[in-house]
Amino acid sequence: MAEETVDPSEIGEQDAPPVDQKPYKLIFEANKCIAAGKCAEVSDNWEMDLLSGIAAPQTYFFDADDLEHNIEAANVCPAKKDRGVIHVIDRRTNEELAPDPHGDGTVSVDW
Ligand code: SF4
Repeated sequence: MAEETVDPSEIGEQDAPPVDQKPYKLIFEANKCIAAGKCAEVSDNWEMDLLSGIAAPQTYFFDADDLEHNIEAANVCPAKKDRGVIHVIDRRTNEELAPDPHGDGTVSVDW
């Protein structure tokens, strides 16, 4: 079966802030979150939602000030056998900055 490709520019861009203000965004595979809570330990943008029991970001769009801790959250997420379900995308290039398991900026979302 061919792997479905994800076009990051099509995800969440309705009602999105301008790219020059918030050049980074998250794609979150919430259905694959295993509620390990690691993201919330390293990033203020991530919280455990008491109702759903899984993680939730406070915002999906951010600038360079919030890049580092969101990248850390993406890198520590142990879901999907350590490949992670938090994806940090550079909206200007549509590259995945983290966790980037392929090492080439390809978006590693598999819905
Ligand atoms: S680290 Fe990953 S699996 Fe754990 S709560 Fe956060 S998103 Fe979910």
